[in-house]
Amino acid sequence: MRLRAVQSVVSIIASHGQVKPHRQRSLAAQARLSRQRIEKIRAAIGATDYLCSGTLYEHLSRCGKAGCRCAEDPAARHGPYYDWGHMQAGKLVRRRLSAAQALLMRQAIANYRKVKKLLRDWETETERLIEAEAPRDP
Ligand SMILES: [Zn+2]
Repeated sequence: MRLRAVQSVVSIIASHGQVKPHRQRSLAAQARLSRQRIEKIRAAIGATDYLCSGTLYEHLSRCGKAGCRCAEDPAARHGPYYDWGHMQAGKLVRRRLSAAQALLMRQAIANYRKVKKLLRDWETETERLIEAEAPRDP
């Protein structure tokens, strides 16, 4: 459908004797498309609040106190406890979180992955935009 629209524009322009090279038009269209996509990516990143890399660990534990049921009964273990692990200066750092913090951290980690994908998409669109706006051969 889009192809047909382009062809009809080509025939209109051709009938008026103002034929631009085909590639130039498709590059302009590509540039517009890439700019639209970049605008959407920028908006999606701008709407992001919590953002953290790393992993959230949820676990139960045994306290080690004599006579506590947790030693024998897995269902009586304490917790759940939440730890957030992330890399800091090349080292894995773990930090204990409350249940409420873990809820927010889960969102932050999901957002981090989304933003990373958006950045890869932004990179791809930038590459296309550069190719469309400043092609190597005229
Ligand atoms: Zn215990």
